[in-house]
Amino acid sequence: MPIAEIISIGTELTTGAKLDTNSQWLSLELSAIGIPVQYHVTVADDLEANLAVVKLAVERSDLVLITGGLGPTLDDLTRDVLAAVAGKPLELDAASLEIIKGMFARRNRPMPERNAVQAMFPEGSTILANPRGTAPGIFMEIARAGGISRVAAMPGVPSEMKPMFHDEVLPRIAGLAGGRTIRHRRIHTFGLGESAMEELLGDVTARNRDPEVGITAHEATITLRIVAAGQNIAECEQKIEDTTALITQRATAYIFGTEEEDLQDVVVARMLAAGLRLSVVESATGGLLAQRLLAVPGGADCVGGVLVLPSEAAQCLVLDIPPSSMPGTASADAARQLAIACRERFDSDFALAVTDLGFPHAGDADLGPPIAFVGVADRNDRVWKVEVNLSGDPAIQRSRLAKTALNTVRLALAEVATGVSPDLTKA
Ligand code: ATP
Ligand code: MG
Repeated sequence: MPIAEIISIGTELTTGAKLDTNSQWLSLELSAIGIPVQYHVTVADDLEANLAVVKLAVERSDLVLITGGLGPTLDDLTRDVLAAVAGKPLELDAASLEIIKGMFARRNRPMPERNAVQAMFPEGSTILANPRGTAPGIFMEIARAGGISRVAAMPGVPSEMKPMFHDEVLPRIAGLAGGRTIRHRRIHTFGLGESAMEELLGDVTARNRDPEVGITAHEATITLRIVAAGQNIAECEQKIEDTTALITQRATAYIFGTEEEDLQDVVVARMLAAGLRLSVVESATGGLLAQRLLAVPGGADCVGGVLVLPSEAAQCLVLDIPPSSMPGTASADAARQLAIACRERFDSDFALAVTDLGFPHAGDADLGPPIAFVGVADRNDRVWKVEVNLSGDPAIQRSRLAKTALNTVRLALAEVATGVSPDLTKA
């Protein structure tokens, strides 16, 4: 078994200002391909400390994944440390310098002199492309007593690190898992909890199944991760296809996407493909729907309008709904009226409404956590409604409410397209 080690670099991490989530993510990724992680090391932006930590890692580990310290500032030391540990000089890579200059040019900004350092790499290293940021990563094989250690240095920013790991690092380390080829696929589901999903899938998630299917949860999105090992890529892909078919058969209503797809991507893609337009009026999601839908490329082409309003009173005012017709905060009927009025106002094909939060109580008695309703209306004033129970961490609940809203649109679109009614009641 190879020994793997993860090093997180940054004074922000050692002071506690930021939580090191990269190590957790990378460990899960490595274990998913059968490489166990033996060490997590977190180290401040300090040259001596970095040298000591990386030297030790190269001596004791076959694979070393480093995140952070690749930026252009003086406290970004990773490239110098790698060069020193490998005993190689840093040299300029002209192609990388052009890419970095081009990124600044596209933003109409001159490149600060310091950024040129991001085009410096230890002699003999492999440059890892970073389409999402300026700092490329570095991959090296460093000789040590009795073998070599593979070292990959990636940016600290998670949104740059993750795709770099998948696209650039994984293909270079897959061989470490015992000469076998490994392929994986992530299938995202929404609408069922982790344990209910596990139950629905039955033996598919059994340990030691081939291929193995793992379940992870993130803000109510349940992700199934298929990991197939085989002699070659074709064998792995066949196994993945077979298991995907089985999962689809059992959980089809809950599956919304694969790999990097999120609910808003799926909603926008379906709207665009069908030439449909959506409008939104949101309260308890506080602008999350506007943010998510409009961040998707093409989102602005199919979203006719988003009204972000702090209360149902304000929603009624803007949509000309007489407040007297509202049955009180956070009701199914409020969601229905808001969705219908919003669709009419924007003359869109569908409208999505999220009510304000309501606190169900009888007399003085509090009957539990806040609730909100989601409503989706189509041109025939057909309405899909979901009640969402918002217990738990408020930060996550808002995201879960936004996801429920997007998922309701997804299901409504699917029903219009296929005639199959979704099971919508509570979330
Ligand atoms: P940049 O080119 O953006 O400067 P970098 O490689 O120098 O990238 P750092 O400066 O170390 O990376 O970190 C940039 C940001 O990325 C940090 O402010 C932090 O928000 C995030 N980050 C860094 N390391 C981690 C980590 N281990 N876990 C989670 N977030 C991290
Ligand atoms: Mg930095």
